[in-house]
Amino acid sequence: MAKILIVDDDPDFTALVREWLTRHHHEVLSATGGAEAIRLAGAQKPDLILLDAEMPDISGIETGRRLRGDAQTRHIPIILITGSDPLASQFEKLMAGANDITHKPLVLERLGPQIEVLLTGKSSSPEWIERLLNEAVREALAILPCDLVWLLTLDEQRESLVSRALATGGGERVEVSFLETLSGNQTHPTIPLGPEFGLLTGVVTNGMATLNASLSELRAQEADGLRRACEKLLLGFVSVFPLQVGGRPAGALVLGSRDPLNLGAARDRRSLAVVVGQAERAIGQMRLAQRLAEREARVSERPGGRPSALKQAAQVTGPPPAGEAQRRAHEVTLLLEASTAASSTLAIEQVAETTAWLLLEALAVQWCAICSWDKRNGSLTCLVEVADLSHPAGQERRVALTDFTLTRQAIESGRPFAASMDDPELWGTRHDILQAPGVQAMLALPVDIDGRIVGVAELYHTGSRYFFSTDDLEHCQTAMRSWRDALQAGSSWDDPGPVRQLGESLLDTTGASWCTILRYRPQEDALSILHEQGKAVWPLGEGTTYQPDEDSPHLRALQRRAPTTARLDEATFVPGHLLDRQWMEGGSLLIVPLMARGEAVGLLQLMDRDTDRTFSEDDHSLAQAMANVVGNALDNVHLSARLLRRAAQLEAAYNDLQEANRLKDELIQNVSHEMRTPLTAIMGYAELMADGTLGSLNAQQLESVSVIAEKSHQLARLIEGILTFHELEKEPLQRSVVSLRRISEAAIRAIQSTAKQSEVEIVTSYAENLPDTYADKTRLGQVFDHLLDNALKFSPEGGRITVTIWDAGHAIQTEVTDQGIGIPTIEHEKIWQRFYQVDGSSTRVYGGTGMGLAIVRRIVEQHGGRVWVDSAPGKGSTFAFTIPKVDLTGTDA
Ligand code: ADP
Repeated sequence: MAKILIVDDDPDFTALVREWLTRHHHEVLSATGGAEAIRLAGAQKPDLILLDAEMPDISGIETGRRLRGDAQTRHIPIILITGSDPLASQFEKLMAGANDITHKPLVLERLGPQIEVLLTGKSSSPEWIERLLNEAVREALAILPCDLVWLLTLDEQRESLVSRALATGGGERVEVSFLETLSGNQTHPTIPLGPEFGLLTGVVTNGMATLNASLSELRAQEADGLRRACEKLLLGFVSVFPLQVGGRPAGALVLGSRDPLNLGAARDRRSLAVVVGQAERAIGQMRLAQRLAEREARVSERPGGRPSALKQAAQVTGPPPAGEAQRRAHEVTLLLEASTAASSTLAIEQVAETTAWLLLEALAVQWCAICSWDKRNGSLTCLVEVADLSHPAGQERRVALTDFTLTRQAIESGRPFAASMDDPELWGTRHDILQAPGVQAMLALPVDIDGRIVGVAELYHTGSRYFFSTDDLEHCQTAMRSWRDALQAGSSWDDPGPVRQLGESLLDTTGASWCTILRYRPQEDALSILHEQGKAVWPLGEGTTYQPDEDSPHLRALQRRAPTTARLDEATFVPGHLLDRQWMEGGSLLIVPLMARGEAVGLLQLMDRDTDRTFSEDDHSLAQAMANVVGNALDNVHLSARLLRRAAQLEAAYNDLQEANRLKDELIQNVSHEMRTPLTAIMGYAELMADGTLGSLNAQQLESVSVIAEKSHQLARLIEGILTFHELEKEPLQRSVVSLRRISEAAIRAIQSTAKQSEVEIVTSYAENLPDTYADKTRLGQVFDHLLDNALKFSPEGGRITVTIWDAGHAIQTEVTDQGIGIPTIEHEKIWQRFYQVDGSSTRVYGGTGMGLAIVRRIVEQHGGRVWVDSAPGKGSTFAFTIPKVDLTGTDA
């Protein structure tokens, strides 16, 4: 029997689920909104929460996030009840930090097993992991332009790849058949690494992707099964991407597609990066779960062994869930949660902080700091620091009170004192030490028991809060009073438990970042630290920067890309950290590189105050797995920043181009306009000379003048073309009711005599009862002129041009067909560009300016029609265009 909290604003729904759960012997609590749910969860600690995503006060997503953000409710499994769009609900699940989703209308039979899994901790079970991997491939199929997504993991011991998850558009039957064809009847077929599977083996061992291997290439390289399996699905191409976890080969992602996979678009490449990242994380989680399960098994076999990390943490944070299995599930769920949440947000600070707390708990260390690494500058920049560190009684260091101006005032007066960093004299020598990590304000609270001052609690704000308010002071006093009341019931100021509790409640009430609790020794007039707790989070790139020494363990971890350990006395803390190192007698450090795509992008430091602590293999791999989560998240942030920068550059370049284009057009237009007048004079005089009006010329002179006349006419046509094109842009269409047939006939009449000269016949074929349309008569006339002009120009002597017009239903279609030289397919797109000619030298043979078709297309498109060509060299050309039909009822004919 478990305690289950239903959160839903619909009373009917709640009643139904309550009834069903009660029948299954669960205790049921209910809340109608987010605020109530958060309160109830904190007070009642349910074993599971069923959370409606859509609620009026605080949404289910936000409620989930707040539950996850609170240490008291962070561990409670959540099933989110959400809409039916699978991708959207998956996203909501990630955002809410939920463990599972279910949809309305609720299928109770399905909900049962989901609850069961979460309650009994099967979430580390193979079924659960399988589901996780399956989700990864399904999502991949949805966002990538391919027909099959197949995930294989590397089994290093057996030197083979194990098929883990498969998604095709064809559903489960197709998938089963694919796997069966591949390897007989295994559900998780194994593919040995070796020459028979050259493609997969190559990708996994070299770490280099293969794009679009065709099946015939497979035939040569791969064993028969894969090729046949692909053929059965009509796949023509396979692309294989290597997967890595912590910089080592971990498997392969196979994408199958009917056509070659096209990753030309930036969006698709980015999707692919996301998918590969997700697959890698899923494998990382799988391995993590396996390792944790193995570790737990070992610990439970050895009753005298070191208690698991979580057991230790649980002793501090509250009673552990009953039973070893449940506790294990709890630990795995915690870790899986963090990494899943990490993949859903770009807020790297949040990911880093969650991971840091998690590691503190899981490895039973007391301090964790995470930095990003800038390889070029050789510098580390603080991102997050968290600590929860008690100094055992008898081992604390003493420090003379002289350094602590503010603290001294608090002790001497017995009253709290607050100050902001802006008053340096209040801080004494500590001003600089505290300014480096970004402390903005401090509050010193005297701690008195039975009227005697026994110590001071110092609270710090980092980040944007730069003062403590009087409200804060009051809240602190209240918290202190209730703490004292509880303390009188038998605990002592020396016990770490109660001291820690004081720190926690002060941090809670003020929202401060950091709390240091010091004991006061009146005889010596000295202080010693009992407890330090809190966090500091710096926005990416804004924390203090530090260059690790040549021989530092930090640089060692970064260069070797592997965890390394160090004693505190040989390792330096990165400045900017809040933990006051002067209080440390000793300690052990575990330094782990944050890995992403095989590169170290930062590092994570963990500290145990115990100098003799040895970090086990398990600790190393657990920390490395978590470091990779942060590494990947950090990498994503860099990636998205780069993409944004690139997008901005592209946009700027595009705008420049647009502007340049506009200026060019303007220039051409102005120049063309200005050329008209002198050109008219040149043409005129050339003609006068040619026809002898200005006196007779000898043969050579006559020929020269004819060339001038011809060329200046050509220039005039070009200018006309340019100006016409610009007019098209500027002048709106002058529409009226027109008959395409009549426009066509007029254009043919105009060209008829030239056609006759070239012995080209023009025939027409007009459909009966062609409807009139509403269009710009002059411009459509230009369309016919240009098309006929071209047809004639490129026709052989004795050729035939056919003009056909018919009613194509939604539009009237016209075709101008010739038997001319034709146009190669590769040119079909380009001929519509301004000034383009298939063969530049053709101008000499055929004349022309390259403007005609550009004008044709512009005019047709202005009318909402379409224009295209069907042509091949030596086969003639057909130019076709449509003009949409318009309902003419009501227009003046
Ligand atoms: P031009 O004034 O050079 O004819 P167009 O824009 O009208 O310019 O045509 C562009 C090019 O397309 C031509 O130079 C020619 O190479 C090709 N083209 C156009 N119409 C035909 C056709 N009917 N037959 C063959 N080629 C053609």
